[in-house]
Amino acid sequence: MSSFEYNQAPLRVVFGSGTLAKVPAELHRLKVSKPLILCTPEQTFQAEKIEEVVKSGEGITPAGVFPKATMHTPGHITDEALEFLKSSGADSLVSIGGGSTTGLGKALAVRTGLPHLSVPTTYAGSEMTPILGETVGGEKRTRSDPKILPTAVIYDVDLTMTLPSGLSATSGVNAIAHSVEGLYAQNGNPIMSLMALEGIRSLAASLPTVVATPSDVHTRSQALYGAWLCGAVLGNVGMALHHKLCHTLGGSFNLPHAETHTIVLPHALAYNAPAIPEVMHKLADALPGSDGDAIHGLNILLTKLKVKRGLKEFGMKEEDVDKAAEIATRNPYWNPRDIEKDKIREVIRRCWAGEEARADL
Ligand code: NAD
Repeated sequence: MSSFEYNQAPLRVVFGSGTLAKVPAELHRLKVSKPLILCTPEQTFQAEKIEEVVKSGEGITPAGVFPKATMHTPGHITDEALEFLKSSGADSLVSIGGGSTTGLGKALAVRTGLPHLSVPTTYAGSEMTPILGETVGGEKRTRSDPKILPTAVIYDVDLTMTLPSGLSATSGVNAIAHSVEGLYAQNGNPIMSLMALEGIRSLAASLPTVVATPSDVHTRSQALYGAWLCGAVLGNVGMALHHKLCHTLGGSFNLPHAETHTIVLPHALAYNAPAIPEVMHKLADALPGSDGDAIHGLNILLTKLKVKRGLKEFGMKEEDVDKAAEIATRNPYWNPRDIEKDKIREVIRRCWAGEEARADL
């Protein structure tokens, strides 16, 4: 057993079906009575549901709904939400949605110190992390601070039933990517590796059914459980090449978050494969149908999920491949294999073209 250090961020989690009904009890635990509810324009139907639930709590009055959460947490939306928050007299935040809404909740919580109850509805995992990415002047900046971590999280599988099949698939692979990189993180540890493998197993086993039969509560529950574990891994250990590539591609070329993670993951793993033989064995075990080859296992999973495989399908231009390689290798994150610019360029080119991943670089 190699040496390690182990920390886990303190965070209360409530998991199940129908757990939305526990929002008032959680607000009582936090000793707050006037929450501002946050959501995207597309999820006001769920925010209104939560508003009704909040109203049913003794002594609790919602401060209102701010329905403008946007991907990559743009600064002007945060400023507008902050004004709304101040005028509403809110003493807490309830975010209901995916990583975009959780991001707005974090941005407001870190600025005001208010408690933040997060109710996630995708598999992105932001609710489990002390990390916040914000976009100002077209540039995405990421910071980490314990104050960014939500105060508590309510996972309610019923809220994920409306997540469209396509987004369920890519959001689930986004979660798997957190755990894959957690398995070879520089500051990894045995507990995070257990959580990572259990998270990958749960998602790889459930996602094909979630996509084929989105109304199956049992498999949706298994997927959400996996997403929780993968989010916890993301929140507790460092990420490497895969996340660096996705941050570069998302931040500089405006490519969609979950879809980009899905395309890049097998290619980033193929690049790192020669440096992480033990991890490759463990991953192969966790991926159904892999025949002992984790890259093959991922390729099979992505085929079953019927996801798009090329960044060019999302508008990336071939001439951007060089620029992406330049940005991604300028200040690389720690990675188990040395970063070689010409090979990273080829990784990005394969992602752009939508080729099958292969470990030949
Ligand atoms: P998202 O939050 O942007 O959601 C995508 C779309 O799906 C939105 O229109 C949303 O309203 C809708 N949606 C979400 N859940 C739904 C549901 N159950 N039913 C119907 N519609 C639903 O997507 P995401 O992938 O969850 O989050 C992406 C953002 O989160 C990015 O900005 C990314 O950088 C950030 N993120 C941050 C971290 C972190 O640790 N800081 C981790 C993961 C993602």
